[in-house]
Amino acid sequence: MLADSYGRIATDLRVSLTDRCNLRCAYCMPPEGLDWLPAPTLLTDDEVVRLARIGVERLGITEIRYTGGEPLLRRGLPGIVARTAALRPRPEISLTTNGIGLARLAGPLAEAGLDRINVSLDTLRPDVFRSLAKRDRLADVLAGLAAAAGAGLAPVKVNTVLMRGVNSDEAVPLLRFCLDRGYQLRFIEQMPLDAQHGWRRENMVTADEILAALSAEFSLTPDDSRTRGSAPAETFLVDGGPARVGVISSVTRPFCGACDRVRLTADGQVRNCLFARTESNLRDPMRAGASDEELAGIWRRAVAAKLPGHGINDPGFLQPARPMSAIGG
Ligand code: SAM
Repeated sequence: MLADSYGRIATDLRVSLTDRCNLRCAYCMPPEGLDWLPAPTLLTDDEVVRLARIGVERLGITEIRYTGGEPLLRRGLPGIVARTAALRPRPEISLTTNGIGLARLAGPLAEAGLDRINVSLDTLRPDVFRSLAKRDRLADVLAGLAAAAGAGLAPVKVNTVLMRGVNSDEAVPLLRFCLDRGYQLRFIEQMPLDAQHGWRRENMVTADEILAALSAEFSLTPDDSRTRGSAPAETFLVDGGPARVGVISSVTRPFCGACDRVRLTADGQVRNCLFARTESNLRDPMRAGASDEELAGIWRRAVAAKLPGHGINDPGFLQPARPMSAIGG
């Protein structure tokens, strides 16, 4: 098992398949992009699947989420998903994507064994999409969402980050849009993980503000907190249900005590927290011939060293060196 010294067990593995992205969302990366990881440093498909297998067979991983960067840019994605689905015990397989290209890939991914999907959508207005993400791709994202639902990847979850003065007036329209289509919307508080280090606490839209905006239009009934488990989202029944909306308030209501996640970067580094300032290298020992058990040992030690919390609200907080896009969100 992947146990830390605070009694938490990591069972949910988030694997970044690339640090590249075809959007430039302002809360994530600058318009000019970033210096991408050099190709030889990236895990190959075989290496990704080997580490996934070690996680599942030796370390108690029960869920694997592929992310990035933008994971749909990874050419071998359907094959990686299919090989992950063949692992035993079979993990739940999910994907976080911006939806560009999903119209074409949703069917093949579902066939390969993908179980669930989260699509990021921050606005319904093409002009706002263009200014927030620096690309004119809203129609592609909406087509991707529809294709995901059509491929049976239900319930399709939608992730939204609100930025003050940009899309902060869209909480209600986005929820209506999702309710109408049976998508489950989850708002994520903006976190200090942007490459530009531009995050300011006073500028972020808080969970309280989001819930106040939604409550003006909908009746929200909190789900029983005892059923939340390790889920990052606090969920609410909308107008008596069965539809729900979620808020992931990592900054104002941290949930580190229930965290069951561990991350693997596209270049093969284990991170025991999104905000970790240290990483453990699996790629180099793997390429030097380490056995499965040796790699599992490095991974166990990495998780054992997990800190009790992310520290965002501590006076001495320092943002990690890697931005979100290079960690895997
Ligand atoms: N490209 C994919 C996507 O857009 O979903 C996967 C990677 S992206 C880093 C994963 C999620 O992280 C997205 O929902 C994105 O909105 C969110 N995200 C990125 N930067 C963030 C930040 N600074 N604070 C909160 N969420 C962030």
